[in-house]
This record gives sequence, C-alpha cells and structure tokens, in this order.
Amino acid sequence: MTAAARKAAMATTFDPVAVRCDFPILARQVHGKPLVYLDSAASAQKPKAVLDAMTAAFETEYANVHRGAYLLSERATVNYEAAREKVRAFVNAKEPAEIVFTKGATEAINLVAATWGRANLKPGDEIVLTELEHHSNIVPWQLVRDQTGATIRVVKIENDGGVPTTAFAQVIGPRTKIVALAHVSNVLGTILPVEQVVEMAHAVGAKVLVDGCQGIVHESVDVQSLGCDFYAFSGHKLYGPNAIGVLWARRELLEAMPPYQGGGEMISTVTFERSTWAEVPAKFEAGTPPIVPAIGLGAAIDYLSQFDRAAVAAHERDLLSHAMHRLSEVPGIKLVGTAQRKAAVQSFVLDGAHPHDLATVLDRSGVCVRAGHHCAQPLMAALGHTATARASFGIYNTTADVDALIAALHKAREILL
Ligand code: PMP
Repeated sequence: MTAAARKAAMATTFDPVAVRCDFPILARQVHGKPLVYLDSAASAQKPKAVLDAMTAAFETEYANVHRGAYLLSERATVNYEAAREKVRAFVNAKEPAEIVFTKGATEAINLVAATWGRANLKPGDEIVLTELEHHSNIVPWQLVRDQTGATIRVVKIENDGGVPTTAFAQVIGPRTKIVALAHVSNVLGTILPVEQVVEMAHAVGAKVLVDGCQGIVHESVDVQSLGCDFYAFSGHKLYGPNAIGVLWARRELLEAMPPYQGGGEMISTVTFERSTWAEVPAKFEAGTPPIVPAIGLGAAIDYLSQFDRAAVAAHERDLLSHAMHRLSEVPGIKLVGTAQRKAAVQSFVLDGAHPHDLATVLDRSGVCVRAGHHCAQPLMAALGHTATARASFGIYNTTADVDALIAALHKAREILL
C-alpha cells in the first residue's frame, strides 16, 4: 500500500495490530516471552518513523541551529523550526512563538513556577493544586511558595479518583493566583474538568497551568478552546524521544515573564553592565536547544496525525473497559481509580502482595507494568496505599495484551499468595 493510500485508510479505521508493526521494539521478547508493554504512561515506545527522522537528522543535516551562515546549519534550523510549527498545529496554538521547547514537562512547569511565579506571587496569594498531581506539578510550586510567601491549597479527590468541579469551587477564591492541575492523572487515568476550572479561575483573575503529560496522549488538545494559560507536556510519552518537552503559553504572558535561564540564544545584546533579551520563544531557550529530539517530536506528531484521533480514542476506551472488566474478575484484585471520565490508565492492587513483587513476577511473563508511588506520594497517602501496580495503554496495545496481563496475574497469584 502506498503512503497516501495507507493514510486514507487509517483516517476512517484504526488497526492496532497493523500499528504494532511500526514499533520495532514490540517484536522483541523478554525472558523468552513476547513483550507485553503496558507502561506507556511512564514512557511510550517509538515508531520507526521517529527513529528514522532522528537518524536522518544526524546523518544528513546535523549542525547547530540559528547561528550558522552555512547550508547545513540553515537546514538544521529549518528542521528545528518546522518541528515547532508541527507542535503549534497539533495543539492549535495561535503562532509558533508560543511554543517553547524544554527538556520535558518537568522543566516546563519549573520554568513557569520560577519566572511567572516569582514575578507575580506574594504573601497571601494562593496556588491551587489537586491531590492527584505528579511531583513535578507540586515541588516547583513549593519552591516558589518558599521564595514568595504564597500558600498552597489542595483540591481533594473523591473515592473513585474523580475531581468534581464542586471540589475546585471550594478552594478557588479571591486569593487564588494560579491553579495548576493535571489534564489526566498518570496514576488513576482521571480526566480533570479543565474547561470548567479555567472558567472558575479566570472569574477570580487567576491563571491556569495544565500539566498535559498524559492529556496530550489520550485527548485531542486545543489550547485555545481549553482556554488555559499554560500547557506543558513531554515528547517521550507522545511516542517521541526523551529530552524534549513543550511549554505552550500565550505570547503576552511569555513576553511579560522574566527569562528562566541565562546564556546564548536567549539574549539580544550583552555588556558587563546589562543584557537584553531575545524575542519569545528564544528568550526561554538558553543554550544549544534539543535540536534532534525536537525533530523527533515533530516526526511523532506527523506519525500520529495519520490516524483519526476519534478512532484512536475509541480503541483506547475499548481497551480500558476490557481491562477494567477482566481485572475485576481476578480474585483479590482491587481497581484503584474508577472515575467516570477516565483515560486508558488503570492502577490496581492485589490483596496480600506488594505491587513491586507483583510487577517483578509479571515481568517474568513478559508483562511490563509500573509499580510504586508513581511520583504521586500525596495521592498515595490520600488513597491509603503506599504503592499500586499500574497498566497503561498506548496506540499499539490490543485486547490480547490485556488478556496476557490477566493470565500473568493468575500465575502471579499462585507464586505470591
Ligand atoms: N506530569 C505527569 C502527569 C506525568 O505523568 C509525568 C511523567 N510521569 C510528568 C509530569 C513528568 O514528566 P517528565 O518526567 O517527562 O518531565
């Protein structure tokens, strides 16, 4: 089939079995068993299109960007900036200048906390977080809280892992200056009511930062219709490489924020007395940027764009409901995170077994799941668990993967209990 014919076919149907062939690693075995990769929420596998784009960038058009007066540097610059445009289109930002490349979501959130936070927060101001945040959307705010005298307030989750708008309404108020929330929980899969939170926050003049690490993978993201002020995500969970992330913010906000790091690329002029800053987004991209990782992320976006996102979402919904149904049939398994609006991420515990032991035993059957606190210790405390096991699904997973997990769990019960 030609590339064009394949694209046309993919636009209306979605065939995860065909998709698997695009991911070379899925053909390998672990411990002599076929690989069943259920840890995409930690990091997704990469399609060959991404690997090829990065190899080609290194092999044929590699040089530093923005500075060279020679062809190779010009080509590398064009490719790097083309990746920025691909990200812009993917999240429907107004202009490429609103896309800042970082090394990951963690750096993007730290950037906002350190620059916008230090410039705008003072004693008495409140930073609103939710109980289910990843540490990278908690600790940067603690750092800026300690520097500014602001206070952190926390929105509680419900028993099923949902976070209703009423819970936000109890905490957002006149002192709120920023609400920082996950789009989708990396532990529970809960999809948070971002649009409603944005309305509530903007009504009191507060900004909203969305940690989109998981949201960008499972939801179609349009930053303009979400209405938030900042959206952060990592490339490596979106089938791209690691060492690349994105901060989106509206131009006016980026322009009003002081720089994050100083160095080359982010300046306009430098004297020993003072320096002036480059235009955005360069103002926030000090030093040699992650050139080839950005090109790889652009290739991941091209790869994903061949699929109808609604068809992918429907596939992921089917996988999740199959997984929830089959997991709850295994004696002693308790699902953790059953909110109504959920993405394809499922935590669980097995009575009488530690999640770490469970994950180690599952690995012997070729099944990769995450176990631990998932960088969300406050959430674990709220749930009354020290750890959970977590299966998370990507576009390449099938119901056969879920069935392999269930078979491995039955075997694990025999070994561990
Ligand atoms: N937020 C969420 C919801 C995440 O799942 C992760 C990664 N597990 C992060 C933030 C941090 O992403 P990174 O380590 O790629 O910066």
